[in-house]
Amino acid sequence: MDQQQFYDRLNDRMLRYGASPLDQTQVVAITASPDYLASYDGQVATLVASNLLGRLSPSVQVGFPDIPIHPRLPWAGRSLVEHALDGMRAADPFGSYGTRQVTAGDFRFHLGPDGHNTVIHGSGWNAYIGPGPSPLSPIESDVGIGAALAVVLGAAHLFRTRFGAMTESFACNAWDWTDVPKRVEFSPVEVSLGHVMTAGLGSVGSAANYFLALATRDFRASLIDHDGIGIHNITRSPIFTDAHAKVDMAKVDAVAAFLRRAGVEDVAVDAVALHESALWSLREAGSTDILISAANEFNVRYHIEMGFPPIQFYATTGRNWQATLMRHVPGAKACSLCVFPPDEKYAPTTCATDGSTASQTTVEEKRTDAALPFLSFAAGLMTAAEVLKLNAPGYPFSAERVMLGLKGQPLLIGTPIPHRTGCLCEGRDKSVHIAAVAGSRYVVFVGQAEVGR
Ligand SMILES: [Zn+2]
Repeated sequence: MDQQQFYDRLNDRMLRYGASPLDQTQVVAITASPDYLASYDGQVATLVASNLLGRLSPSVQVGFPDIPIHPRLPWAGRSLVEHALDGMRAADPFGSYGTRQVTAGDFRFHLGPDGHNTVIHGSGWNAYIGPGPSPLSPIESDVGIGAALAVVLGAAHLFRTRFGAMTESFACNAWDWTDVPKRVEFSPVEVSLGHVMTAGLGSVGSAANYFLALATRDFRASLIDHDGIGIHNITRSPIFTDAHAKVDMAKVDAVAAFLRRAGVEDVAVDAVALHESALWSLREAGSTDILISAANEFNVRYHIEMGFPPIQFYATTGRNWQATLMRHVPGAKACSLCVFPPDEKYAPTTCATDGSTASQTTVEEKRTDAALPFLSFAAGLMTAAEVLKLNAPGYPFSAERVMLGLKGQPLLIGTPIPHRTGCLCEGRDKSVHIAAVAGSRYVVFVGQAEVGR
């Protein structure tokens, strides 16, 4: 395949979204303040920035000095610069990626609280983009979520404005998802997350697992997806590469290899759709602690909801430059089918038992599979952030649904999810559901009052 064919396929979903690729002659230079570069948050920022910018642009230069990867990160001790460059080249073998000092004419993507006239800075759960210096107070605990979020916001700004200056400032936090930074010192590494099952390892599911692994390797992973990796998948997933696409590797296998190399010891895979998965259908009651439901084919939400899921998270990317995070707690009044109803014409009845529902489409599934790279990263990051907060006292801190809009200056809006009258969950026995998740780690949230109403 020649370069043009590769780029046509690489950017296919971006073009379908109605956006055009960035000018490839404009070099993006990633720089970082020295103190920030030495910190965990700063290194998360450089890793995510190189990963995401390398997928957005074929011309990226690393302008920060090399340093060993932080002991709290996967790949600890390895060269940070080599790791960043290897990742970019693996995603786009035709791109121009290297290291050099920043020069006039580069678009500078500067990470840290200060050191340039505009900065991209995250600390703890907080994120800031705009003129420097950053107003965020330093947070002691190594969280990385705010740093990654700041990079996503900065990349969205770069893409939206076509390398425009960040003249306006924006600050927010990933704790209660508001535009007011929070002094929260909670670190997600103190307690195991438990058993995290991901149904759907496309851009959002793979990104969620990537961001989880940057924060902690103390969880057990089960991965379910029937699909293989194509070139059009590369730009929206932080894990998928050209080498994966060349052999049409199963998405579950690529994510499993990533997690194992990062240090997650117990990873199980099932390369089939959820309704055919033994990992899902034969799981013992209470054995799955968290479900990341990032699939949208084969009427998957019907199979999930009828299968009495544990606490469930996912985020969708929308047509209007937004990523929307959802949380469904067993026993809450709205389920995922309240949000994404099965197609009316083929709506299954609660007594359907012949498996015919597997082939029905949902409203969600009919949307085109198109998104922008930073939207998929945002959706995966929001999902991972929510999973990482589960062990924090007082959880949850936000409404069941949180929308991050990136069409203009960033915007965060939390809203409750209303029950949809006539939804299949009305016929679901609440006591059976609660019994089915008894023993799972986050059963404490079952039936509790919802935040945001
Ligand atoms: Zn429902």
